[in-house]
Amino acid sequence: RQELLQQLKGKPTVTKEGKEIKLYANIGEVKDLGAVLQNDAAGIGLFRSEFLYLQSDHFPTEDEQFQSYKTVAEVMAGKKVIIRTLDIGADKQIDYFGLEHEDNPALGYRAVRICLDQPDIFKTQLRALLRASMFGNISIMIPMIASVWEVRKVKEIMEEVKAELTSEGIPFKNVEFGIMIETPAAVMIADELAKEVDFFSIGTNDLTQYTLAIDRQNAKLDQFYDSHHPAVLKMIQMVIDSAHKAGIWAGICGELGADLTLTETFVKMGIDELSVSPAMVLPVRDKILNA
Ligand code: PEP
Ligand code: MG
Repeated sequence: RQELLQQLKGKPTVTKEGKEIKLYANIGEVKDLGAVLQNDAAGIGLFRSEFLYLQSDHFPTEDEQFQSYKTVAEVMAGKKVIIRTLDIGADKQIDYFGLEHEDNPALGYRAVRICLDQPDIFKTQLRALLRASMFGNISIMIPMIASVWEVRKVKEIMEEVKAELTSEGIPFKNVEFGIMIETPAAVMIADELAKEVDFFSIGTNDLTQYTLAIDRQNAKLDQFYDSHHPAVLKMIQMVIDSAHKAGIWAGICGELGADLTLTETFVKMGIDELSVSPAMVLPVRDKILNA
């Protein structure tokens, strides 16, 4: 079986009906890149940039971030690299952020909320990302979006950063800009959000948590954390439909994207992209070829 999977390396990921699915990999660190290449992912669908912050004892400087993003872009050599902006919160403690204890961190001060509240932190990351865009095919993705105004505000800040870089004579490319769909609110207004961005990537881990009101970190609730819940699957269909109506693509980067019992369902739903852990790339390709 392992040998059969190895034979799928270098093969395009197309469904029986001839639709090509973008099959990407999720990474959390630069050192995961070896596994991405080894498993022949067509790109990176989710680079969790927070590791840079978690592994540091100070706010990573623009140059420190730039080096990491540049390395990933260069190693991927023109393949798509979707880098998610900072996604931390009170559940991931970072001393230098000085986050206060919260009773409900999952519903709290996290991800894009921190970025909009402390734009200096955000701008440093955006500058590093835009500078690194010159070295490959980088896209920027924003986590935990719940409202249209948040996306507009992010775009405003991005324009400010671009204007600054331009005035400093620093080159950058016009990167693709997408958001994660991982709150039920974002699902319900996906038609409006789709007009603002280039792509959607569904974060099923958080979307399941917020839809079912189940803390994803609480092992006691495992039997209730049903990621196959019809509510979750309906939401995925809604997101794909809204994306297509607006002419943008939709993918899944949460764990559910690698669930082989659902691959065929996702293909039928019209999914355009799946981003999975490197080890799951070939098994998912195998499923898609037969879906
Ligand atoms: C998700 O929520 O599904 C996701 C991909 O993001 P994370 O697991 O990093 O929250
Ligand atoms: Mg998430």
